[in-house]
Amino acid sequence: MSYKIAVIPGDGIGPEIISQGLKVLDKVGQMYGHTFEYNTLLAGGCAIDATGEPLPNETIQVCKKSDAVILGAVGGPKWDTLPGNMRPEQALLGLRGQLGLFANLRPAVIYKELIDACPLKPEIVGDSIDIMVVRELTGGIYFGERGRRLGIKGQEAYDTEAYSVGEVERIAKIAFEIARKRNKRVTSIDKANILESSRLWREVVTDISSNYPDVTLDHLYVDNAAMQLIRAPRQFDVIVTSNMFGDILSDEASMITGSIGMLPSASLGENSFGLYEPIHGSAPDIAGQDKANPIATVLSIAMFLRYTLNLEREAQTVENAVNRVLEEGYRTGDIMSPGKTLVGTNKMGELITEKLSKI
Ligand code: NAD
Repeated sequence: MSYKIAVIPGDGIGPEIISQGLKVLDKVGQMYGHTFEYNTLLAGGCAIDATGEPLPNETIQVCKKSDAVILGAVGGPKWDTLPGNMRPEQALLGLRGQLGLFANLRPAVIYKELIDACPLKPEIVGDSIDIMVVRELTGGIYFGERGRRLGIKGQEAYDTEAYSVGEVERIAKIAFEIARKRNKRVTSIDKANILESSRLWREVVTDISSNYPDVTLDHLYVDNAAMQLIRAPRQFDVIVTSNMFGDILSDEASMITGSIGMLPSASLGENSFGLYEPIHGSAPDIAGQDKANPIATVLSIAMFLRYTLNLEREAQTVENAVNRVLEEGYRTGDIMSPGKTLVGTNKMGELITEKLSKI
């Protein structure tokens, strides 16, 4: 099969890590008989320099005609003084909105080899942690009515949390489908003891669960969930939650893994279209020095193979290769520890590519 991919390298370390990711993807294509056609596009600071705007219309149009988008990172000090709506990060918001990306998937995985980087005690971590946080991305309080007004206590500001049944249904379905490919457990997180929007959220998720009798559903209040992630993270498989709760909990979950250069993400829309990117930023402090860890990008490509193309074998091939390179002791600077072999961005990409082996 042939697939069209919109590639947005972006700024800082973006181009370096993206070229390693595509190296891996090309080899997977050769091994399994897929062709990937890349369209390289501008977004972020480099787009501001070239066109005067962070997200040129051409970028949006080409993304819309593609099977998926693979993005490096955007932003950097050069553009930090621009007004808010002209900042490189606007490109990310624009892409999410224009491409209808309503589900954000953030895995928090601790690799056996990197367990020392985890800030939790070994008895809590056990031999690994593997959580998938599914966050609603285009609704809730970040998009609800807001404003300032004169209230009975004087000047006040307000933001509104609102969810429609349809919005909750579609994110719940994604969570249950993902759980089916994993350990078949969904934990829905809300604040249903206080918020009406959370009570609707809980009702709808419970309704949808009847279509997935093979998946276990439980519910937690968000304050308890924040504690449980630290106290007993191994109880979680798939977490599904609203935009704001997910924003906070996905950062908490990813930080328990301890290594920002290892964490991929996916943002999905209708019909398995998706945007895949590492969770880290453009790391201007190490850009252009062959120091960046490309693994988060490589693992984002594994997510692309799994969630947009439904190519589970190919996705596992990539993940196995990453595991093998780590087992053999190769490390970029961010995950380096005594006794291991330090390698640069390029070498890490080459090693992963070499270790790809057909399942
Ligand atoms: P950052 O994630 O870029 O960097 C934080 C720290 O982690 C830095 O010390 C950096 O060197 C290190 N780091 C990050 N990725 C790494 C990798 N792959 N390998 C090794 N080390 C890595 O966050 P920041 O410094 O707060 O932001 C820098 C710029 O990136 C800002 O302009 C910010 O707005 C932007 N940003 C973009 C995105 C995105 O494109 N999705 C996300 C976050 C931040």
